[in-house]
Amino acid sequence: MKTVYVDNNATTAIAPEVLEVMQPYFTTDYFNPSAMYEAAKSSAEAIQRARETISRCLGGFDPEQILFTASATESNNSALFGTIQANPERRHIITTAIEHSSVLEVCKELQRRGLDVDFLPVNRQGQLALDDYVKALRRDTLLVSIMLANNETGVCYPVAELSRIAKETNPKIVVHTDATQAIGKLTVDLQSDLKHVDLLSFSGHKLHAPKGVGALFVRRGTRWRPFILGGHQEQGRRAGTENVPYIVGLAKACELAVASVADEQTRVRSLRDRLQKALEERIPALEVNGREAVRLPNTLNLSIHGIEGEAILYELSRYGICASSGSACSSDSLEPSHVLKAMAVPFTAIHGSLRISLSRYNDEEDIERIIATLPGIVANLRKLSPYWDDNRNCLDI
Ligand code: PMP
Repeated sequence: MKTVYVDNNATTAIAPEVLEVMQPYFTTDYFNPSAMYEAAKSSAEAIQRARETISRCLGGFDPEQILFTASATESNNSALFGTIQANPERRHIITTAIEHSSVLEVCKELQRRGLDVDFLPVNRQGQLALDDYVKALRRDTLLVSIMLANNETGVCYPVAELSRIAKETNPKIVVHTDATQAIGKLTVDLQSDLKHVDLLSFSGHKLHAPKGVGALFVRRGTRWRPFILGGHQEQGRRAGTENVPYIVGLAKACELAVASVADEQTRVRSLRDRLQKALEERIPALEVNGREAVRLPNTLNLSIHGIEGEAILYELSRYGICASSGSACSSDSLEPSHVLKAMAVPFTAIHGSLRISLSRYNDEEDIERIIATLPGIVANLRKLSPYWDDNRNCLDI
């Protein structure tokens, strides 16, 4: 049975083209890029070329503004802690309740250290109220950190507008965005609509590069201090011997991702929409979280009333279908997702949440397999559920 992999917001398969360009840097060109001998030159040049490629992919800017990291988690930590360290006199941060934990937990830690943090709420569709944001901005605001697209629901946030408003309020406000789920699914241009963004994070494994490599864009002139110290690499802005093959892979993956935005917006979106429509027709008491919001084209987050998400996942995996119950990062705990909680998804639906996230490698056949399988699984599980009454087609509590 062919595996149907629809958990691409958790991680993606490495593209063959990416693997191919990485290979020489494991075998023949394995040198430390800082070494003085001639043989190491190709490694140092490969890093520089990767920087140039990524800057071209994100709008075309001076490539020195890209730093390579080990993950989006590191990029987010560096962006936030680095801004705080560089600006000890300003103490106010604005973020949202639905950020990835690598932003959220840092903000909570900063709150514990005495900074003033506003976690903006979202509505039932996962959207922010512009009014709340404008009211939260203060003259002493140091940092705004709002993601471009949410990993669980796919809901997109108007970072172009939010960053423009921040700079109009006070040009000193530093704007960070977590673009981890956006690159390859949306156009991300740091020279046009995102020209007011100072710091932008992402990682490779969401766009068909390996896990363990990421990047942080730091706009020239941003008051930011390096977070990882101990070496001259990346011009002293991120210490540690560079992971040359992975950096080369990340650049190739970015090139492919940017080239596939149009495919995501048309073919992948139509696969997602077909799946959404078919499941809505076949499964009673099913909610599409973020249905009315602007969403990533590949993401479908469902709340299936009256049953447990973990049970659905287990059953799906018996049919070779790999999905997730929301955020992969929280799926090893029984805590309901903080994103769905912030959206006020009711108790019996929050526990029945299921995230299906597609990539350019999914096709019609995958979608048909899910349509043929999931409604039957739900009906069977509901028969066993104390929270479900078939006759009322709803909860029995
Ligand atoms: N931000 C977002 C929006 C994510 O989806 C993820 C991965 N789930 C991360 C940050 C962390 O990425 P990494 O695994 O590269 O640390």
